[in-house]
Amino acid sequence: MADPKGFMTTPRQDWPRRPVEERVRDWDEVYAPGALLPIVSKQADRCMDCGVPFCHDACPLGNLIPEWNDLVSREDWRAASDRLHATNNFPEFTGRLCPAPCEAGCVLAINQPAVTIKNVEVAIADRAWAEGFAPPNPPDRLSGKTVAVIGSGPTGLAAAQQLTRAGHTVAVYEKDDRIGGLMRYGIPAFKMEKHHLDRRIEQMIAEGTRFRTGTAVGRDVGAAELRARYDAVVIATGATAWRELPVPGRELAGIHQAMEYLPLANRVCEGDLEVSPMSAAGLHVVIVGGGDTGADCLGTAVREGAASVTQLDIYAQPGADRDEDTDPWPTYPKIYRLSAAHEEARDLRSAPAADADARLFAASTLRFTGDEDGRVRSLHLVEVDARRRPVAGSGRELPVDLVLLALGFSGPDRADGLVDQLGLTLEPRGTIARDRDFATNVPGVFAAGDAARGQSLIVWAIAEGRAVAAAVDRRLSGGSRLPAPISPYDRPMSV
Ligand SMILES: Cc1cc2nc3c(=O)[nH]c(=O)nc-3n(C[C@H](O)[C@H](O)[C@H](O)COP(=O)(O)OP(=O)(O)OC[C@H]3O[C@@H](n4cnc5c(N)ncnc54)[C@H](O)[C@@H]3O)c2cc1C
Ligand code: SF4
Repeated sequence: MADPKGFMTTPRQDWPRRPVEERVRDWDEVYAPGALLPIVSKQADRCMDCGVPFCHDACPLGNLIPEWNDLVSREDWRAASDRLHATNNFPEFTGRLCPAPCEAGCVLAINQPAVTIKNVEVAIADRAWAEGFAPPNPPDRLSGKTVAVIGSGPTGLAAAQQLTRAGHTVAVYEKDDRIGGLMRYGIPAFKMEKHHLDRRIEQMIAEGTRFRTGTAVGRDVGAAELRARYDAVVIATGATAWRELPVPGRELAGIHQAMEYLPLANRVCEGDLEVSPMSAAGLHVVIVGGGDTGADCLGTAVREGAASVTQLDIYAQPGADRDEDTDPWPTYPKIYRLSAAHEEARDLRSAPAADADARLFAASTLRFTGDEDGRVRSLHLVEVDARRRPVAGSGRELPVDLVLLALGFSGPDRADGLVDQLGLTLEPRGTIARDRDFATNVPGVFAAGDAARGQSLIVWAIAEGRAVAAAVDRRLSGGSRLPAPISPYDRPMSV
């Protein structure tokens, strides 16, 4: 804390976004390049070094936030990078994508805007890359043990990097043609440009991690064969079995799942496609589902040039302030949040019928109707109360040409046969069961990330990857110095 009065003299200032009219014409990140560095040291100085930093506990990685705030306020970027990388393999991902539960738990946030922790994190990460503070870190000697990691999302990547650095020989199997999981083909480039991902993969290859893309375990290579070939197997296959909307008219053409739509737009950005075959250009779009995946569809449809885009949320519009009874500090509160995509849709008036920005709140879809060609043309909805009971007389109809379903995910996708081939035990909600050491019912097979935890966040996925790596290392080496930031049973702070 270079300035003990920083929190009293410096107001919070976030990394500015580019003007809406400019950024919706491209797929680059929404933030103004070069605008963070000039403000970030003063922002880090707002950290009070409060003594009992709840931000530590609120961050699943246990990031050493006050320590790196102090180092950034003194502009000691190398030391800040060391402290940050001590707990987080991929801070340039979380610094861009994390919803920052740490900021909800910041002590300053009790009666003032929180420290811009996430911005400080991304500034350190970007500076570390620019200055070469995070070179490849290969192991001094090899253990002679081998590990197969199935899935290359943030969980698999974190597990693979930790295990490789511990000296084990690690191969990552990925069924897609590129590495990255949902960070590659789910999350749009305007939230995180993919070169950040490519750069980390190059670092991992230089450290010795091997990648096998285009290989679905269970289909292209047998799960039992893999188990026999490696000393340990880590399943990090994510939770991508999507939820359905079983209402009349669901079978009409023009109704798609968000994760059918978003990967195609990402493939356009990767240069694989000229135009997305599901492009929203010129269409009236309705997104069913009020979460982040829906917001990603919104930003994508706006960039594709949709005629209108409306997002339906079944929950009532939350208030601007934390409800101290249900969501007291330091928990992550349900409040009205305006993402970059919502800001764009609001400013461009993309949804003529919406309550706020592009969203219709407390809206439940009853059915779809279509034209004589079997194409969706209308979405019929009703307003619902807090117990999801229809409000009499509130029915309305929205014109629509493209419907995107963003209703969340129920658990791992079982189509590849991995779960059945290994005879894995599942939890009642469909996720892979494991014990306190991340071990499944099959000896030598571990499970981590969304596949076992259920749909979650990048920060939890990285924490899972680090923790499962420690468990695997313990099993293979008889002990481990790798950190385990979470147990399989840890959950976000709540009352
Ligand atoms: C559209 C969208 C946007 C999101 N935005 C955010 C955000 O902004 N911030 C945030 O914190 N979280 C976000 N999330 C959540 C976050 O992306 C996930 O929690 C996280 O990616 C889970 O990581 P994972 O490694 O466990 O799984 P995944 O990222 O799903 O990776 C699993 C990988 O395993 C591969 N795989 C599956 N089966 C096999 C097999 N049999 N053989 C080989 N490979 C296989 C898959 O192809 C995939 O690459 C978002 C999720 C979605 C869907
Ligand atoms: S990873 Fe997320 S919770 Fe942890 S410090 Fe960064 S922004 Fe905060």
